[in-house]
Amino acid sequence: MTQAFADKVLAWFDVFGRHDLPWQKSLTPYPVWISEIMLQQTQVQTVIPYFNRFMMRFPSVTALASADLDEVLSLWTGLGYYARARNLHKTARIISEYHQGQFPRSQQDLLQLPGIGRSTAGAISSICFNERVAILDGNVKRVISRVFAIGGWPGQRETAQQLWQQAEAMLPYDRMNAYTQAMMDLGATICLSRAPLCDVCPVSRQCQALDRSSVTDYPGKKPKVAKPTRSTIMLVIKTKGGEVRLTQRPPEGIWGGLYSFPELTQAQLDELKLPSPPQALPKLKHSFTHFHLLIEPVLVEIESRGDLPKIDNEAWVSDDNSQAFGLCRPAQKIIQALLA
Ligand code: SF4
Repeated sequence: MTQAFADKVLAWFDVFGRHDLPWQKSLTPYPVWISEIMLQQTQVQTVIPYFNRFMMRFPSVTALASADLDEVLSLWTGLGYYARARNLHKTARIISEYHQGQFPRSQQDLLQLPGIGRSTAGAISSICFNERVAILDGNVKRVISRVFAIGGWPGQRETAQQLWQQAEAMLPYDRMNAYTQAMMDLGATICLSRAPLCDVCPVSRQCQALDRSSVTDYPGKKPKVAKPTRSTIMLVIKTKGGEVRLTQRPPEGIWGGLYSFPELTQAQLDELKLPSPPQALPKLKHSFTHFHLLIEPVLVEIESRGDLPKIDNEAWVSDDNSQAFGLCRPAQKIIQALLA
């Protein structure tokens, strides 16, 4: 079945695969890497404009390595999961300094770089260097779990191991570059999560989930765990001239390195000597992987910046310069509402 499976997937890809995505213009490691990282938590259509802007500003790994992290984060604003952008920057510096600007060519060597996991390393080495290794992004997990009726949630170790083994067992002996892209495309355009297009699927005859009429049972769902909700107050200081005061967050932790409004507890807010009582702004809810954050922004208007003592890593942002800062999503929303 192995080669027959790959042959069908490849024949389908040649006719129906996606061949005009911006990162397919040149199948070289730098654009493939950037697109793979952007696509990890985000849909293709959302990624395209971010990818184009990023490549325009940082056309090579050395350009990215010599950029300021702030600028990298500002181009990432809105994509979320900012550790990805910080790792891109770190890895670009390592490649520039220790690899003469050249990407390692094997999955094993790529895996040593920050932010590059097994699937991303496999995508780069198979697409760019034809290495015979598997990938297992969200789309491919769906295809493999259905074709082989592998139940269980892919986030569990045993399930993931089974999926990797099966993905590796199905690899063809040539055209690895096309096969990797074909598997991604099959998952993204045919084996859709809610309503897969089994009628036009090239591997429908081999698909065990289809045979059992249970395609949407695969892959298994993540066990539900109730997320706790934490709350915080964000202090929004705004001048009459339309500037707001932000602070750059420490490099580690949530929104690391991004700009946000200073966070306070109610007790800390009560102790602050402010020129006027804070006014409550509409609350926001932001969800992280492990918890929800309920944000209560409060606004204090002042005449000018000089009316308050400076805080650490402060930056004053107006409608004109807000694009230049890597802002966390809630700060972006508050600013949009206030300065619009
Ligand atoms: S037959 Fe349907 S469920 Fe099976 S791989 Fe194809 S699209 Fe997915």
